[in-house]
Amino acid sequence: MYSQEKTPMKKPVCQERGGNARTERKSAATAKDFALRRVRGPDKVTRPYMKIVVLLGGPGSGKGTIATRLVAADRTFRHVSSGDLLREAVRLQTDAGREADGYMKRGELVPDELVAAMIREWMGRSGEGASTLLLDGFPRTVRQAEILDETAAGCGAELSAAVLLEVDDATLFDRIAGRRGCPGCGAGYHVTNIPPKREGVCDVCGSALVTRKDDSFETVRNRLEVYRNQTLPLIDFYRARGVLRRVAGTGPIEGSVDRVRCAI
Ligand code: ADP
Ligand code: ZN
Repeated sequence: MYSQEKTPMKKPVCQERGGNARTERKSAATAKDFALRRVRGPDKVTRPYMKIVVLLGGPGSGKGTIATRLVAADRTFRHVSSGDLLREAVRLQTDAGREADGYMKRGELVPDELVAAMIREWMGRSGEGASTLLLDGFPRTVRQAEILDETAAGCGAELSAAVLLEVDDATLFDRIAGRRGCPGCGAGYHVTNIPPKREGVCDVCGSALVTRKDDSFETVRNRLEVYRNQTLPLIDFYRARGVLRRVAGTGPIEGSVDRVRCAI
């Protein structure tokens, strides 16, 4: 769910005192080094090296909004939201969509293999001209993270960072309660934080904005519980790999975007 709000692009504050994310970097390779490296996939075809960045954070932590802004600023970035892929499958009533529907309505995770197959398919068709793949909402379990490693190796990509957006529960509830989305173009809004110009109407395409079915109070509570039980173990998993970066996800959205940009 994304905002199309027009805000001037500010310079990242990575170098400023206090502006940096708490990172656990492994090497000082520059973006240019990465872009110039080429890798050979299992099919013996060489392709440019691609970075994978995993965005972690509870429901409403801003993963989608931040990813959309990063893509808007750098056309070599690609973004996928597993939730969006699943909602589209439900809308189209594909086999996967029919299977996922019930889990999603209850705020439970859909089976690992089902969502992993969708991400694998997306990665297979999204590498063209890409430097960085931003994964939003996937992986969400340790098993999914293991599948991602296998998939990445198969398409010449390497996980370079797992960014954890840190947001307190009260803020998450407030954001989700006010969240509105455009069914026409996918733009995301918030009734007070990111309001559309005309109430209830998408700035981009004029469609009437809707509330997501699983954004009810009960379901959100369940999603937070699921996040704590099943997704938090991923933090240890990525910390052990030396790729975890913790970033504050509160305050003005531009600040969070800058902090993530600096962390990846
Ligand atoms: P949020 O991050 O706000 O909870 P998402 O749009 O990422 O919302 O996900 C919505 C729902 O889609 C989840 O509650 C879950 O049912 C399903 N889902 C999304 N991503 C995954 C995943 N990686 N594994 C399992 N289920 C997922
Ligand atoms: Zn729209």
